[in-house]
Amino acid sequence: MVVTTDSIQSNVPLKPYTTFKIGGPARFFTEASTPEQFRRAFAFAREQRLPIFILGGGSNILVSDDGFDGLVVHPVRSGFEVEDRGDSTFSACIQAGEMWDQAVEKSVERELWGIENLSHIPGQAGAALVQNIGAYGQQVSDVFESADVMELNTGVVRTLGPSDCRLGYRTSIFNSDARGKYLILSLRLRLSAYGQPNLTYPDVREYFRRLGVGTPGLAEIRRAIITIRDRKFPFPREERGGNVGSFFKNLQLRPMEFEALRARLAREFAPSVLERLQEIRQRSLSDLIKIPSAFLIDICGLKGFRIGGAEVHPGQPLVLMNCGHATARDVLALARHVQQTVYSRTGMTLALEPQLVGFSEENPN
Ligand SMILES: Cc1cc2nc3c(=O)[nH]c(=O)nc-3n(C[C@H](O)[C@H](O)[C@H](O)COP(=O)(O)OP(=O)(O)OC[C@H]3O[C@@H](n4cnc5c(N)ncnc54)[C@H](O)[C@@H]3O)c2cc1C
Repeated sequence: MVVTTDSIQSNVPLKPYTTFKIGGPARFFTEASTPEQFRRAFAFAREQRLPIFILGGGSNILVSDDGFDGLVVHPVRSGFEVEDRGDSTFSACIQAGEMWDQAVEKSVERELWGIENLSHIPGQAGAALVQNIGAYGQQVSDVFESADVMELNTGVVRTLGPSDCRLGYRTSIFNSDARGKYLILSLRLRLSAYGQPNLTYPDVREYFRRLGVGTPGLAEIRRAIITIRDRKFPFPREERGGNVGSFFKNLQLRPMEFEALRARLAREFAPSVLERLQEIRQRSLSDLIKIPSAFLIDICGLKGFRIGGAEVHPGQPLVLMNCGHATARDVLALARHVQQTVYSRTGMTLALEPQLVGFSEENPN
């Protein structure tokens, strides 16, 4: 028999903890805030030989309909403290359980630059590091200093810097080589009292052009990003359907790969599609050419495609929606259909962005 303490509950439904509003129960579940509480929870999992899953705001996961047969640990400690470095730069120490958007709001209120374009992204600050969240020309890696992490196996706390964490496009050691090895306790970001508005994204430029504002301040940028995101992205709310934002990562192609894509689309699609591809090429500012996965899903005619209660969003095809009664099985079947269709028509492989929780590798739900 398994003896649980007051703080470790059994058979807890995970659905309400996710923005998809999908998924079965956790066999065990606990909230924790202090290092000691985390250590106790991890020791319990070790004794019971259970896998551990760290659950933040549940906005980047798909939980299996069967739930998670292990211990789910949910960090709840919030906090945002700023230390003046004396040279117009400030170090913000953010606890893992702080909601990311509240951290952005606080930094904007204090007139600190660096993360304003990352406004209105759901989830906790700890998880922001896991996939190096990015939007509208900024990403966490631009300002990342260090993170305090706890090793799940030993309970030892270490400080990791940028070279340890290897932050890339939607990647870090936390969602690749060291997945499941660390709990992120807190992170430090380098913010600045002086900054330039980052208006590299056309939507943001256009927003301020219409307003006739040349050099917007921090609060104006935050308001702009929130407005643009609300217009474009179905923020998960009960009445509009659950989702986890982008279900697929965008592609980053080397010039040769881009040429192969161009040749393939020239064979398979109408000339107007090639014109759109050319516009995308021109917008790409780096050596790697960013191809929005939404473009590929769109040209394959998948907008609004439905399996069971899951739907490719008719306006923003990067997003898979829970139309009210979707199961994880529906969502995964839809994702696989999108991947297979895009691959067979364009030769491109779309990678999933959210983590799948509680699925067996060989036989995902
Ligand atoms: C409407 C919408 C818009 C979005 N827009 C964007 C966007 O613009 N850019 C972007 O990059 N993402 C975006 N996302 C995805 C998502 O919000 C982010 O990835 C976010 O950082 C996930 O945070 P979370 O707390 O919800 O993490 P969860 O979904 O709970 O977990 C995600 C992963 O992080 C791990 N994790 C969570 N906390 C910790 C911790 N403390 N220590 C170690 N591991 C941890 C989990 O185990 C899991 O592997 C969007 C999602 C939605 C629903």
